[in-house]
Order: sequence, then structure tokens, then C-alpha cells
Amino acid sequence: MSKHMRCIFCKNPSSSSRSVEHVIPESLGNKRHVLPRGIVCDACNNYFSRKVEKPFLDMPVVRQLRFQQDLQSKRGNLPSISGLITPDIPALLTRYPKYDFTSVQVSESDLARILQAKEGTILFPLAGDLPDTPVVSRFLAKIALEAMALRLVEYPEGIAYICDEVQFDVLRDHARKGYVSPWPVHVRTIYHQNGKTFGPEGNAEQIVHEFDFLVTDQSEWFFVLAIFGVEFSINLGGPEISGYRRWLEQTGGLSPLYTERHGGMAAMPK
Ligand SMILES: [Zn+2]
Repeated sequence: MSKHMRCIFCKNPSSSSRSVEHVIPESLGNKRHVLPRGIVCDACNNYFSRKVEKPFLDMPVVRQLRFQQDLQSKRGNLPSISGLITPDIPALLTRYPKYDFTSVQVSESDLARILQAKEGTILFPLAGDLPDTPVVSRFLAKIALEAMALRLVEYPEGIAYICDEVQFDVLRDHARKGYVSPWPVHVRTIYHQNGKTFGPEGNAEQIVHEFDFLVTDQSEWFFVLAIFGVEFSINLGGPEISGYRRWLEQTGGLSPLYTERHGGMAAMPK
């Protein structure tokens, strides 16, 4: 890497930065999409992990996903989640992957009710689609710029282009400061979290993440990311999502991740 690197977010010199940046957090199962040192400076890396990724990972629906998919943190922990014991007894579920053990915590008064009950089935609250919140939108803005860097990382002039292109400044600042609100995103489920596999039968891999860029006829750029079957789309140019809805209407609702177009290639799974 060059001695005159700059961070793609704050544009400050980053040659002495030491951290590698996970485009998608490790806690969501990402080991593959990693940017080398200096593409994102230490200060931005640290800021994103506290103020952009953590709030996303702390959302109940994401905690539940991590619990169900056994997505452990770097330290091997899984988040506790709320559950229900039939018919209506709230419980806190904690999994200890190391010991292959799940603890179920209930209040003392509810314990008596459980002992009297004939059967106790644990039900998980149903996770709906992720809400369109500033948390999701900033998380996506960060990943979008980093995914672009990942595609261009082999080309020094490509990273310089990302730094210097003023059209990305709004997106950059949205990730860094979040002052554009609302910045709408499009969220929908395109396949079940366990439902999609890739590769020859027998050794098929579950698709965990995939992403791609969509350029519409109106020259709007969208970043499209799927995490465990939930597709997220954000407009790289500004807080406007109607162009994506229009594109979906024109193409019958297929995900850009699964549409042949402009000779583009679908992102690699995982
Ligand atoms: Zn920076």
C-alpha cells in the first residue's frame, strides 16, 4: 500500500492506521470481506464499531438472528434474547455455545406457574422485517462505501477516486455523522434465513451475505445488500428511494442480486 493513503471516510492521512476494517461485522458471520489497513483510518474504524455497528447489532431482530444462526462475537458470545414460554410467560434465553447449553431465565413468580403447567414450550417472538431507521440507514451507508472500496482495492487510483468523488460526500457524511434524517432505505425479505444455498448439491454453502450495485436507467446508483435473506437497498446519491421502487416495478420485483443486467455479475456469496 502507498505511503500516502487517505481514509475513504474522513479523507485524513491513514498510512499509520493499524486496523483492518470488516465491511460487514464479524458478529454477523463475516470473515471474508475485509479491507486492508489504511482504507478506513483507526479513528473512523473505532467510531463505526461503537456508533454505527453496535446499535445495529443491538436491535432485537438482529440479536435474535445472531442467536438463531449461532453468530458468535469475537469473544465467542451470543446475545441473550427474549422469548415466551407457552402461553405467555416471558423468559430470557442465553446460549453458551462452548457448553452447548441454553439457559432460560424466568421470574420467581412465573417459575411456580411453569411447574404447574403440563407442558412448557419456548416460543420466540416473531421477527418482522427490519424497521427503516436511522440506525439501519447509516449502517448501510458505511457498508456501501466500503463495498465499493473492496471492488477497487487492487487499484490505487480506484481508492483515490472514492476519496475525491464529491458525489459520495453526502453518503460519507451520513455514515460518519448521520445528520441527514430520514435517509430512507428499502428493506424486504427475499428468502428465508436458512433457505438459500449456493454451490453443488451435497456441499452447498448457506448464503450469509451478498451484495451488488445497481445503476438504473435514470443513472441512479443503489447499493443492495442481503444479510440472511433480508435485502437492504440504499441510494448512494441521496436520501431518496423511489427510484428503487420504480426499478422493482419495472423488473417484476426480482432482486438486483438475482437479475442479469448490463453484463454485471452477482456478488459472491458469504
Ligand atoms: Zn477516517
